[in-house]
Amino acid sequence: MTLDDKLIEQVTRLVMEEMKSSTAEESESNSTCGNCGIFDSMDDAVKASEEAQRKYLFSSMEDRQKYVDTIRKTVLAPEMLEKLSRMAVEETGMGNYEHKLIKNRVAAEKSPGTEDLITEALTGDKGLTLVEYCPFGVIGAVTPATNPTETIICNSIAMLAGGNTVVFSPHPRAKNVTHVLVTALNQALQEVGAPANLIVTVREPSVENTNQMIQHPKVRVLVATGGPGIVKMVMSTGKKAIGAGAGNPPVVVDETADADKAAKDIMNGCSFDNNLPCIAEKEVIVVDSIADSLIWHMKNAGACEIKEESTINRLLQMVTNDKGGPKVEFVGKSAPYILNKLGINGCENVRVIIMETKKDHPFVMEELMMPILPIVRAADVDEAIEIALVAERGNRHTAIMHSKNVDKLTKMAKLLQTTIFVKNAPSYAGIGVGGEGCTTFTIAGPTGEGLTTARSFCRKRRCVMSDALHIR
Ligand code: NAD
Repeated sequence: MTLDDKLIEQVTRLVMEEMKSSTAEESESNSTCGNCGIFDSMDDAVKASEEAQRKYLFSSMEDRQKYVDTIRKTVLAPEMLEKLSRMAVEETGMGNYEHKLIKNRVAAEKSPGTEDLITEALTGDKGLTLVEYCPFGVIGAVTPATNPTETIICNSIAMLAGGNTVVFSPHPRAKNVTHVLVTALNQALQEVGAPANLIVTVREPSVENTNQMIQHPKVRVLVATGGPGIVKMVMSTGKKAIGAGAGNPPVVVDETADADKAAKDIMNGCSFDNNLPCIAEKEVIVVDSIADSLIWHMKNAGACEIKEESTINRLLQMVTNDKGGPKVEFVGKSAPYILNKLGINGCENVRVIIMETKKDHPFVMEELMMPILPIVRAADVDEAIEIALVAERGNRHTAIMHSKNVDKLTKMAKLLQTTIFVKNAPSYAGIGVGGEGCTTFTIAGPTGEGLTTARSFCRKRRCVMSDALHIR
């Protein structure tokens, strides 16, 4: 008997599914924390979170920091870090294991804890007034398939540091890896004496469950890390909403840049986790006089250039859908995988697929989230910045520039108004990987919190003591 490819693929998928759910169930059944934060219904999850919040209000700041440290320690245990990174790639079918390791590690190490909550004190003849960052209560957080565990790690640290509890509604494609992480965090938090259910989720993530969470009266704040649809949805609820939406980061390279370094930085940023991060380089606009040199250096650093118009068109047809957006089956896939599907073999070491295009080509204007990087030539740096402004599409998310001209660097930063602007480095320097500053995977452009930390998830409250406690 011979099996055709389709049947083999179906059987493999079924076996993989079975293995994945048994891994998740296994880790739940080996646990000592009951349901370990995983609930059959969204209503039960929210109710448990509210109950936990009532208790959590009376935890000391020292305890809160202990819980943050516990989250860090749990994720950073080598076995857990490897398991989360491996499962995320296998389950979602997107991204790169080594890069997920880096992303999960940096989320656990560099998301700020309670030290982020700096109290303001005003003193004078009338006494002492304190302004403190206080919890909102139960936060409903929607998380993406592209950074499934990274987002849960950094949100959990920041939200718990701020005194909140959190209900996660993950992408259904990341169900099992979410369960493994939430179970491990609940188990570890229970072992250090935390109230149960500070971090919860549902057994079957779905659009219906997300809608129920969004509308639930006990959920005080909504945080959406995802595409424009979900961000718009949480922003139109009438509740406090934090929206971390899509990007389409342009890179401008001008004639003053170090072409070799710029090429290496662009290749490193663009290929990171197969281009899944919302901050990753999505199109290059280069001043004509340095373009040939930049492309030459990019090829030396692992780029494959497609020159034939017909092949570029075939690639476009292959990776985009009827609406012009990326086809799900190619999002987060590697360059060799994409080339292979295009019928170009033997490219195992290719990191990024490049091609020259016009400034309004769909590869430039669409957020593809795969290592396909269009290159647009501009006559001079001013024209390059104008093209970048249009290509960024008003997301005001992330932009990158390679230049030694401080005036032009300043011009681009002012015009594009992105939350993150990286100069002379790969995009990930903007989230603390090879650049100064903390890390987050929830970058809230639309609602203005920027790179979210504990204080982004807090209310400011004033506490006034009249006529006393000033000591000057
Ligand atoms: P997505 O928008 O498809 O899904 C994000 C989340 O929203 C998922 O949990 C999904 O289940 C939920 N969702 C989507 N549509 C919904 C609907 N109609 N009703 C209820 N729930 C819905 O995005 P994705 O593929 O998971 O992630 C990629 C997108 O997220 C990209 O656009 C990327 O730029 C963006 N993103 C932004 C940030 C940031 O910090 N700004 C971080 C990561 C990802």
